[in-house]
Amino acid sequence: MHHLIVDNVAKTYGETRALKGVSLAVEKGELFGLIGPDGAGKTTLLRSICTLLVPDSGSITVAGLDISRDVPAIRAILGYMPQRFSLYQDLSVAQNLRFFADLFQVPKHERPERLARLYHFSRLEPFKSRLAGNLSGGMKQKLALSCALIHTPEILVLDEPTFGVDPVSRQEFWEILHQIRAGGTTIVVSTAYMDEADQCDRIALFFEGEIAAMGSPAAVKGAFPYRVYRLSGTALQDLKTFLEGQPEVRGIQLFGDALHVSFSEKPSPETWREWARRGGFPGLRWEEISPSIEDVFLAHMAGETA
Ligand code: ADP
Repeated sequence: MHHLIVDNVAKTYGETRALKGVSLAVEKGELFGLIGPDGAGKTTLLRSICTLLVPDSGSITVAGLDISRDVPAIRAILGYMPQRFSLYQDLSVAQNLRFFADLFQVPKHERPERLARLYHFSRLEPFKSRLAGNLSGGMKQKLALSCALIHTPEILVLDEPTFGVDPVSRQEFWEILHQIRAGGTTIVVSTAYMDEADQCDRIALFFEGEIAAMGSPAAVKGAFPYRVYRLSGTALQDLKTFLEGQPEVRGIQLFGDALHVSFSEKPSPETWREWARRGGFPGLRWEEISPSIEDVFLAHMAGETA
């Protein structure tokens, strides 16, 4: 069953077309990721889903409720963690949770059990007297998530919840999301970290207000039409310039100490040796790799798959 349906949604701010007719559908209990760089339109879509922004056109339904008509009903079943969350920095962990419990009118007799559950997965109980402003980045995000979950929403919307958080805390945060999902909650989460795409059941690659690709991470990677090679062991900038002149090359991206190069067909060992000789790259090493979401994404951005 579709829990969230976004149909041809467009939104313009002045000259900026933030969403250019986006459609997607999320199943009940699915963990769905919006993956894309800053400015791609993720926040605009998430705020629209949360009834905080009215799109110019198109429609959105959450559990069959229409964002343009059923605002209070949607807010009652939806939890939202905004991008730069406004935790009350001068309130303690426990006070923040109580504030949100009051805001969402969580009945007093249900609070102990809910808090116990939220403290269990966030592991924030030992810090419940600490001011939110004095928590680490990862702990702040876990508190913000707990506040978004206090009214046990059916659908949870998270806008870049791991932004600026260290890698260990990011992994821990995703583990918590998997637990929440296992409890049946639908989760829609945005991220600019491409490596987080693999944590999702399905993803939409967002770019300039449009969805460039959508499906399971494996399907999105599997649909990539080119062979990808990792090249190293030589002057990468010179190698990049050299390969840009070869007709077989579909795209080149620099990844730290290696180049990722995509080809429409697998080059033969003779071709590789010929390039190394002609270009003057005696130490050149090459290996075929499976494309990552980042390879797919960068190829879309460069227009290679257009
Ligand atoms: P993302 O969440 O992917 O970073 P946003 O939805 O925040 O993307 O932004 C999409 C585009 O819309 C960007 O070009 C951004 O600058 C623009 N934008 C977002 N909010 C506003 C606003 N309130 N006024 C004008 N432009 C905006």
